[in-house]
Amino acid sequence: MKKRIVVVGSLNMDIIISTDRLPQIGETILGNEVNYLPGGKGANQAVSIARLGGDITMIGAVGQDEFGKSLLEQMERNQVNTAFIDQVEDVKTGIADIFHVNHDNCIVVVPGANFTLTPDKITPEMEQLIAQSDVLLTQLEIPLETVQRVLEIANKHNVKTILNPAPAQTLPAELLHLVDYLTPNETEFAMLAEHTFTTNDELATLMTEWESAYNQTLIVTLGEQGSAHLQDGKLVVTPAEKVEVVDTTGAGDSFNGALAISIAEEKSLPEMLAFATKVAARAVTKFGAQDGMPFAADLD
Ligand code: ADP
Repeated sequence: MKKRIVVVGSLNMDIIISTDRLPQIGETILGNEVNYLPGGKGANQAVSIARLGGDITMIGAVGQDEFGKSLLEQMERNQVNTAFIDQVEDVKTGIADIFHVNHDNCIVVVPGANFTLTPDKITPEMEQLIAQSDVLLTQLEIPLETVQRVLEIANKHNVKTILNPAPAQTLPAELLHLVDYLTPNETEFAMLAEHTFTTNDELATLMTEWESAYNQTLIVTLGEQGSAHLQDGKLVVTPAEKVEVVDTTGAGDSFNGALAISIAEEKSLPEMLAFATKVAARAVTKFGAQDGMPFAADLD
């Protein structure tokens, strides 16, 4: 039987505006192009899992507007079970306004419906869904109390938990203790550890301290450098695959999706990382976070 995975997280419409420069306050300028792409870390990770063949249900919220409708359709097209995605009245679907300026970007996120997913919205049916899952994967684009609540439910029922602690912030120890696999990128780990690092030795020291404090598996993703974990107390870096990069948006999301599937299948840590590295490398060769996620058949 297929293993069941549940993602609790955000759905956003990414509005990507490319422009030669940003306007000053009070100024209006003409941009070059606009694209609407489905995003949100929760939704991206759910699509990654679905495309890799996982049995995936998402818990989340959108507004009753055109963006919400379109995000739900995108989830369904990708075989994500949407029965637990609320369509909330009188609130807008989450958006990310992304301004692309000369290969750089700046972003404004308005969480909208994502922030209506408060702990009281976790129904007994959702609790049952989590209890019957093999893995729960969540991130930090929904209220922190809800992240804590769903991690508690998963722990109570011995469901493996993965927290992708993005966007970067410090987190309470009581929440961290509920996590089996923590998957920050470099910036997020520096923020969590409240310490910057520049060398692998410094990273190894911080990771060792972290793992002994929280008794969990820590995987720090390092962008094009790959990812780091500890094996028998030693730092191991799994290098990223060398590929023609088109768009790195969603690299971490595809990586986390692949990891969730591997954990559900009870693979070893090196096997998990080899798979996630391969999946993320495919994802960065295509444009768009969700549209770039590979299907299982693309990996052979
Ligand atoms: P995030 O998107 O969360 O910031 P990272 O940038 O660390 O996460 O990327 C996650 C994973 O995606 C990396 O560990 C690596 O395996 C893969 N990846 C990221 N950038 C590239 C790249 N340029 N080429 C190949 N793989 C990449």
